[in-house]
Amino acid sequence: MIPPFASHPLVQQFNEIKKYFRQHETDDSRSRMREFRHYARVIDLAGVEVAFDFVGSINFGQATAGSDVDIIMYLRCENSHDECTLRECRPFLEVENLLLRTLVQAYAETPYEVQIIDCINLNLLEKELERGDPTSSVLIRFAFYRSVCRLVNARLMRPYQRRLHRDSKLIEGMKPHVFAIFDSLSRNQQHNLSMRKYQERLQDCGVRLPASIQERILAHFELHDEMDGNRPPRGAT
Ligand SMILES: [Zn+2]
Repeated sequence: MIPPFASHPLVQQFNEIKKYFRQHETDDSRSRMREFRHYARVIDLAGVEVAFDFVGSINFGQATAGSDVDIIMYLRCENSHDECTLRECRPFLEVENLLLRTLVQAYAETPYEVQIIDCINLNLLEKELERGDPTSSVLIRFAFYRSVCRLVNARLMRPYQRRLHRDSKLIEGMKPHVFAIFDSLSRNQQHNLSMRKYQERLQDCGVRLPASIQERILAHFELHDEMDGNRPPRGAT
């Protein structure tokens, strides 16, 4: 599936860096991907369709034994609320508490902490795709995650992503908001530290980052600096 913001310069840069790190994927990243595919199947058997998008170390293929797992969760919620906020949503709690933690304890080779960073209600997503408002929070988050993250259970998400992809006007309308998301990401100390950590890990393994990738990583951060004061980067409109 083509990322919704595939042509966006920040997304391109982010994904090029990611692709490089993924070529040196750790065994822990691989086994966690495998485990989450298994969890999605078990949760599905329990009657809840769910998909996960990975952010952080698994997205970059750089998870080690002690790494937390950071995920975005997609599920269909029949409650009357739109957004499935953390403490109000029963399907969310079911997946989070009963299934996810239980499964991780029971099945993972070495147990790890799972952080659900965001949750997207597929019913709301469907409504918002219908409405087609480019300032919709759920649409912007969905398009962003699907542009930069790593998916488990693509089958569930394919129809939504196809539908968004067909609406190029909507995608164009959302593009200015991508800067804001990357901007908040780059202000997040954790993200910058992680990037450095991944680089160091490769160097410890005797892998030298090619100059072109080092330049891209630098450029990636410089693009953010240029955005201070909400100026879009030069030549990237
Ligand atoms: Zn809900």
